[in-house]
Amino acid sequence: MFIVMSARATEAEVNAVRSAILAEGLQPHVNPGTERVVIALVGEIGPRRQALRSRFEGMAGVEEVKSISRPFKLTSREFHPEDTVIHVGDVSIGDGSLTVMAGPCSVESREVALETAQAVAEAGARIFRGGAFKPRTSPYSFQGLGVEALRYLAEARELTGLPVITEVMEPAQVEVVNRYADILQVGTRNMQNYSLLTAVGRVEKPVMLKRGFGATIEEWLMSAEYIVSSGNPNVILCERGIRTFETYLRNTMDLAAVPLLHHLTHLPVIVDPSHATGKRWLVKPLALAGVAIGADGVMVEVHPRPDEALSDGEQSLTFDGFRELMAALGPVHENARPLHGDPVLSGAALGVESGGRH
Ligand code: PEP
Ligand code: MN
Repeated sequence: MFIVMSARATEAEVNAVRSAILAEGLQPHVNPGTERVVIALVGEIGPRRQALRSRFEGMAGVEEVKSISRPFKLTSREFHPEDTVIHVGDVSIGDGSLTVMAGPCSVESREVALETAQAVAEAGARIFRGGAFKPRTSPYSFQGLGVEALRYLAEARELTGLPVITEVMEPAQVEVVNRYADILQVGTRNMQNYSLLTAVGRVEKPVMLKRGFGATIEEWLMSAEYIVSSGNPNVILCERGIRTFETYLRNTMDLAAVPLLHHLTHLPVIVDPSHATGKRWLVKPLALAGVAIGADGVMVEVHPRPDEALSDGEQSLTFDGFRELMAALGPVHENARPLHGDPVLSGAALGVESGGRH
């Protein structure tokens, strides 16, 4: 449920509504909006819906009280029609520009980190990626260099000026990762780790939430809702492929998720064709497809010598491959973006509902 304040509502009236929400044992979340303030009340409303509606409708400065039909509330377009734009250093994600994040799967050494950061920066990447804490299927595989890798990431940022993104695997790591990284990544395996989602919801830096490999779009948005409702509005969604019956590729990249998410939510959406395909030669075509379908960015893995990589070498681009990709992405982004039209209106016209399987 959310309360639309009148365009002439005073600050005192807005504050009175916030206090009344708190007095009901609920949380107010304010969207300042461009014309009028909108306040969502989140928490367990249950049978109080009608009583709450009447109470707030009667308050000074309130124009109307509306329901949010989706189960995700703060992340929905209904509550927050304007796109969320996330600022990291001088990079803006979600403003119509294209943000490319690139780097090795794992920060394997200082040399690999610095060499790769420099190469991807020169080729036009805006964010440097690299795993310090690695979630590996086998306990015998390389697990990442941990805090040592975080220091190399910070050094790579010094060298190139690129903000850095790295994965945080558990609540106890949030403090140290937050100290070094510019964006915190929650990986596919942790998309429904609710204590981690709540913990990253309490930091100020943006969070990139990867889609769980077995998660529906609604489950994914409910996970984003955990982060936003814990106090962090800066969430980036990353489609990295889901598990289907197909076996040739590591995952199946759900391209339709991009425009669907742009309709359902105001959060920026990026695609990761490296983990989605698991194959180097498919990274470029799927990255192009992601940008053509309207993604706000692309994340790809790049390694100076992919054959020697300690993780995900098969899907890592060489420096030459990355330069080729960058040259191809620009024109697709420029030409495709204006063709899409308004994501809210185009989805609404078709009546997007969950569970539309026939
Ligand atoms: C990664 O980006 O390095 C990673 C482990 O990705 P995912 O969580 O999508 O598998
Ligand atoms: Mn990887």
